[in-house]
Amino acid sequence: MHDACGVVGISFNETGNNVAKSIYYALYALQHRGQEAAGISVHDGKAIRTHRGMGLVSEVFDDAQIALLRGQVGIGHVRYPTSGRSCIENSQPLLVKFKDGAIAIAHNGNLVNSCQLRENLELAGDIFYSTSDTEVIAHLFVKELLRYDLQEAVRALMRKIVGSYSLVFLWGDTVLAVRDPLGIKPLCIGEIDSGIMVASESAAIDTLNGRLIRDVMPGELVVIRHGEMKSYQLSRLPHPAHCIFEYIYFARPDSIMDGRLIYEVRVNIGANLAKEHPANADTVTPIPDSGITLAVGYHQYSGISYRECLMKNRYIGRTFIMPDQSMRETAVRLKMNTIRPNIEGHKLVLVDDSIVRGTTSRRIVDMVRKAGAEKVHVRIGSPPIMAPCYLGIDMASREELIAAFKTVAGVEAVINADSLGYVSHKGLVDAVGIPKENLCMGCLTGLYPVEIPGEKCMAAQTKLSEYIVKATEDIT
Ligand code: AMP
Repeated sequence: MHDACGVVGISFNETGNNVAKSIYYALYALQHRGQEAAGISVHDGKAIRTHRGMGLVSEVFDDAQIALLRGQVGIGHVRYPTSGRSCIENSQPLLVKFKDGAIAIAHNGNLVNSCQLRENLELAGDIFYSTSDTEVIAHLFVKELLRYDLQEAVRALMRKIVGSYSLVFLWGDTVLAVRDPLGIKPLCIGEIDSGIMVASESAAIDTLNGRLIRDVMPGELVVIRHGEMKSYQLSRLPHPAHCIFEYIYFARPDSIMDGRLIYEVRVNIGANLAKEHPANADTVTPIPDSGITLAVGYHQYSGISYRECLMKNRYIGRTFIMPDQSMRETAVRLKMNTIRPNIEGHKLVLVDDSIVRGTTSRRIVDMVRKAGAEKVHVRIGSPPIMAPCYLGIDMASREELIAAFKTVAGVEAVINADSLGYVSHKGLVDAVGIPKENLCMGCLTGLYPVEIPGEKCMAAQTKLSEYIVKATEDIT
C-alpha cells in the first residue's frame, strides 16, 4: 500500500525572500502524502538548483542545504512511489535541461499510458535515466515547448498524457501548475505574505499563514510569475472525477479540498456508518490515526461513548531496525499498543477507514480481544475496496484485495469480528457532498473515468482529448 505524493510551488513578488525555507515548511505539512523521498528546486536568478534525497523532509534537509538553495521562486515534492522503483533517480523534482533552458517538475498522480508513450519515445531515440512516468511527461513537454507557445504546449501535452496529474513546473523564474482535465488529484492555490503558492493540500497554505484562494480547476493551467497569477482553462469536461480516497483516507482532516473540509466529510461518513450499521456496544474507538474522525462521527450520531483504546507510535521512520522473526510480537506492539482498562469487559465498535488486504483489521481485532474485549464490532468508513487503483494510489493488485473475492460475511470471518459493517456507496457520497458523477470511485466500483485496458470505463469521459481540442477557443 502506497500513499500518493505531495507537491508545492511558491513565487514571491519581492527579492530577499528565502523561498526554500517556505517550501521546506510546506513539504513538512504534506509529509503524510509521501515519506520515501523529498526534494526542492529553486531558481536563483540565473539557474535552477535542486536538492533531493531519500527519507523524510527532516532527514533530507538541514539549515546548510536550505541556505544553498537561494532564490524567491521554487517548487517541492514529497514522494511515495505509485509508478517506478524506490530509488533516488525516481525522486523529484526532476530536472531536465534542453535547448531553451531547464525545467524542474514535481508530479502527483499516475499516467495510465506512460509505458506506451515511453516506448514510442525510446523508439525515436530518447534516453531515460529513471523509471518514473514523470520523466515521460518531461520529454513530451520539452518537445511541445520547442514547437509551440506555453499554452499550446500544455494543451498538446494534455492531449497525449492520460491519467491523473497535478503537476508543478519551475520554468526559469516562473511556476506553472497544471491539473488534469478530470481533476483526479487535488491542487489548490493560496495567497501568502508577498507571494502566491500552489500545493496539494490547503493545510500547507495554512502552515505558511496564508489564505486559500481556490482549487486549481480540472484542465486549468496556472502561471505564477513574480507573485502574480494568470489562469488558462485548457479543457472543459462535463464532469470531473475527484479521487474518493482523498476524502476517505489520504488528505489531512484540516485540509479543504474541492470546497469540502475533510474533517467534516469524515464526521459525516462516521455518522452515516452509525445510521446504517448500529451496534450493541458501550465504546466507540478508532484505529489510529485514520479512523479517528470517522469514530467521532459514529460516536456523535449513536451516542455511544468515545474512548481511545489503541496508541500508535508515530516515530517509526525509515531507519527503524525491523525485529527478526523471533521478535515479531515486539514489532507489532511497537507500532500499536492497547489501553487495557478501556477495553477489558467492554463491547467495542472499532472504526477504521478501509480494509484492503484485511491484515490490519485482523491483527487489531486479535489485539483488543487479547486485552479483554467482550465484543468487537468493526465499522469501516468506505465501501468494500474491490478493484485496483490505476490513478495514483497503490491499492494492491486485485488478487490481494480481500473484498474482491469475499462477501462481507466472508471478510467478517477472516478478520474475526463479531460483526462487520461498511458504509454504503450512497452513505459515502452523501457525506462527501459531491455528486457521484463527479467522483472517481474506481477502487469501489471497478468503473474508471479513463480507459484502462481490461477495465470498464465511464462512457462520457472516454474522449478526453476531444474536450481539450474543443477548449482551444475558450482560453480565459
Ligand atoms: P490492510 O491491512 O491491507 O487491510 O490495509 C488497511 C489499512 O491500511 C487501514 O488501516 C488503512 O488506514 C490503511 N490504508 C488504506 N489505504 C492505504 C494506503 N494507500 N497506504 C497506506 N495505508 C493505507
